[in-house]
Amino acid sequence: LQASPSIAFRHRFVGLHCSSDSACFRSLSFSSSLRNFSPKSLENIKSLQTHRVNTVLRVASSFEQMEVDISVSPRVNSVKPSTTLAISDQAAALVQAGVPVIRLTIGESDFNTPAVIAEAGIDAIREGYTRYTPNAGTLELRSAICQKLKEENGISYTPDQILVSNGAKQSSIQAVLAVCSPGDEVIIPAPFYVSYPEMARLADATPVILPTHISKNFLFDPKFLESKLTDKSRLLILCSPSNPTGSVYPRKLLEEIAQIVARHPRLLVLSDEVYEHIIYAPATHTSFASLPGMWERTLTVNGFSKTFAMTGWRLGYLAGPKHYVAACGKIQSQSLVWPWLIMDQNDLDVMGGLPYITEDAEEMVCETPETACESDGFPKDVSVASLTRDDEAVMTFAGEASVKGAAKNASASSISQKAGVAALGLGYAGGESASTMVKAFQERRDYLVKSFGELEGVKISIPQGAFYLFLDFSSYYGAEAEGFGMIKDSESLCRYLLDKAQVALVPGDAFGDDSCIRISYAASLSSLEAAVDRIKKALITL
Ligand code: PMP
Repeated sequence: LQASPSIAFRHRFVGLHCSSDSACFRSLSFSSSLRNFSPKSLENIKSLQTHRVNTVLRVASSFEQMEVDISVSPRVNSVKPSTTLAISDQAAALVQAGVPVIRLTIGESDFNTPAVIAEAGIDAIREGYTRYTPNAGTLELRSAICQKLKEENGISYTPDQILVSNGAKQSSIQAVLAVCSPGDEVIIPAPFYVSYPEMARLADATPVILPTHISKNFLFDPKFLESKLTDKSRLLILCSPSNPTGSVYPRKLLEEIAQIVARHPRLLVLSDEVYEHIIYAPATHTSFASLPGMWERTLTVNGFSKTFAMTGWRLGYLAGPKHYVAACGKIQSQSLVWPWLIMDQNDLDVMGGLPYITEDAEEMVCETPETACESDGFPKDVSVASLTRDDEAVMTFAGEASVKGAAKNASASSISQKAGVAALGLGYAGGESASTMVKAFQERRDYLVKSFGELEGVKISIPQGAFYLFLDFSSYYGAEAEGFGMIKDSESLCRYLLDKAQVALVPGDAFGDDSCIRISYAASLSSLEAAVDRIKKALITL
């Protein structure tokens, strides 16, 4: 063997990564230094392998190990890891070890995606509808979303004011990144969805937390909001119905909030409405953008995960004024998949081996020649020569450069988008499948409220929506549990309940309220009954 550095490194890689003889054989056959060998039998290969590994180790050890810089950006260091995931992981590990843990940690419906939706996805695959779509989502889905927002929410949008994404979470972070500058303040009522403050931090903005109290159903006094606003306030994040509390903002309260927002020219509102249809009468949902003067100020985030039990399909969207939506589209187009373009003129740029147009690529998304020309930032002297598919056009720029195809493939899955169209076709508020699911959630909510109401020292705000109960267990803090130690906060109480009752719950601390813990009732009534029984037994011993 010749100890050329490149070969030695390749051997080192091969030697340390072979998990089977056949894998080694395949790897060896690619090794240039061993090409002349023609192993006739497995024995030959094995002895060759042993010889090679020994040699490689000898060669490798003679290389000086360079120290690798393992630091990560301060931005990442400022982000807290998700406690929800930490407890879920711990519970999952226990389940894997055979411990019968009841997991009530997950923000995911236990219902299956309705069959009609699933079939639409399957049909899309069968029909070969498996390619990139426009970055902003298909015109078909965006039109269906516009219709839904008009009919159900009373808000008017056109398809170019909709950006389809891989879920409401992606829509939210893109919105925060798009509108916040470093040093801006993001106002977040607590208890909050765990990701909001971290999204603000990722945008180098400062989360400003508005604490609320269980005795007020976790709703804030608008005057309190006003006292927190400064000229740095850029975004107020509202989530109704709320994760984790299940609180629903009444219309009157939203109107009062809107009046305050209207007095602050820089202030925008991100309204996360993913649980809009998981709501229990008499509570009703009001879209913030539908309030007088708020359309211009609001970025409405919604998705398919909750209403249609489609968490794994990864489909959500943002609706808002075009300038913000276009900015979010820009982030999406550059952060997911590199846009592809097929060029036939060399006055366009090339980066990373891929040709690209020096204009903002996502602006090239078009469905018709007319919309292409209208797109903001799109070169005005463009003319579209022909349209080959709904997502592929041949365009000519000032009669010089021409481009075939368009940059648009940071889109959500084409299959999920077809399924999303079917979902929106199910009828008002998600149709019958959604109302069946909501009925089941309501029954579970009622059961849990009644059961925990019987426990002394537990405070409850009856949730009006979503599928969570956020209970104040703080009267148990300070108790000494035998064989466990002191229960001092929501985190230790959750660990105690996982340990003693084998029920996994999420500490309120993760949501900005350490006095509470969150129970997800997206689980069967029988497992909720078993969980309550176990929790009560574990708490009685305290
Ligand atoms: N917003 C809230 C308030 C949520 O609870 C969740 C899911 N737990 C999301 C957004 C994320 O939804 P998606 O699956 O559409 O990304």
